Amino acid sequence: MERVGVIGGGQLAGLMIPAAQKLGIHLMIQTPNATDAAVANLDSAAPVSVVLAPLNDVSATAKLAQHCQVITFENEFVDLDALSGLVEQGVCFRPALSTLAPLLDKYEQRQYLQSLGLPVPTFAPFTVETRLEEVGLALPVVVKARRHGYDGQGTFIIRHAEALSQFWHQVQLPEPERSSAFLVEAFVPFERELAVMAARSVTGEVVTYPIVETYQPEQVCRWVIAPAELSGSLQRQIDCMVTTLLTQLQAVGIFGIELFLAATGQIWVNEIAPRTHNSGHLTLDACVTSQFEQHLRAICGLPLGATHLMPAGAVMVNLLGFETAVGDYSDQRHQLTQVSQAVVHWYGKPEARPGRKLGHVTVLLNNDDRSLAVNMAEQLEAIWYEQRS
Ligand code: ADP
Repeated sequence: MERVGVIGGGQLAGLMIPAAQKLGIHLMIQTPNATDAAVANLDSAAPVSVVLAPLNDVSATAKLAQHCQVITFENEFVDLDALSGLVEQGVCFRPALSTLAPLLDKYEQRQYLQSLGLPVPTFAPFTVETRLEEVGLALPVVVKARRHGYDGQGTFIIRHAEALSQFWHQVQLPEPERSSAFLVEAFVPFERELAVMAARSVTGEVVTYPIVETYQPEQVCRWVIAPAELSGSLQRQIDCMVTTLLTQLQAVGIFGIELFLAATGQIWVNEIAPRTHNSGHLTLDACVTSQFEQHLRAICGLPLGATHLMPAGAVMVNLLGFETAVGDYSDQRHQLTQVSQAVVHWYGKPEARPGRKLGHVTVLLNNDDRSLAVNMAEQLEAIWYEQRS
């Protein structure tokens, strides 16, 4: 049996387990806590073993390498320097560390995308000395932590000069980390946010999934609808950009690419995530091959699977925590399952916290009408947030 090591044990690793089971693959998951979503409620039949260790514990990763043919990543919090010694010993990481290298720091990622001629917002390093006009920027701007940001943690939209001058008072970092911790970029007045999942195989084949629209108010994804309502030429432009990007990166595995779309039809790349991604969760129920299965196929050298939607459309709503509580929200989950063509995925996290992703629900639709899909997202949110005070 093929054995795959996975560094990280959150819900993204957890959602990979059924795909591993289907493909006859054993997963060995390295994660710090027994309560982490992927390993907390393991079925005894699940083809999974667990190494409890911090993500950056190289000796634990070496243990994974002893038992697995290939090691992959659940998230982008990867210590490349620490792992490079294992590569020298012949350990196979997919995606490769060289693929990840330009992507893990948001500033370096922007530089890399720009070097490929891909459209990105105007950006610059951000330090206490930065004067916006000197780097070609003006308010409003977005300041971002270069590393370890997720779900909008580490992304700050700054609209006023006062907020900009206050920014550094909140930063609790010593020098020299402080000077290399942030970037600043133009605020993009987008009309819609888009995302696309794409996978590249070991032989260089690239497949893309239907482009989706994401709704991310306050920098957290609330819902995703597929397919995004887009002209054929825009779809081709995006597919072409994504194929170029994955080919240049010599990527192996699945990648999520987030984009901004202006009313004029102009697009910018916001971010590339070198892993399975929240915007691809609806592939679990709506596409022939889920993003999780596709990732395993790609990294194990199996043929890639078909990516098209099976229903005419689909909507995915994140079940975000809205309070700090220990609960399983069984009433709301039950109500959600009563919605026609709904599938609820619950991650089994030990505690709800505001903004924490506790699960998601996908509803398959028999048409691709955007306004009906948005309406469905709102109905699902109304059920989930019913008891919110
Ligand atoms: P994270 O990596 O935490 O998801 P992102 O950089 O993707 O952070 O930003 C989260 C959200 O913040 C985006 O989905 C978008 O809604 C908003 N955002 C980020 N960058 C910009 C920008 N340059 N202009 C306008 N909105 C932005």
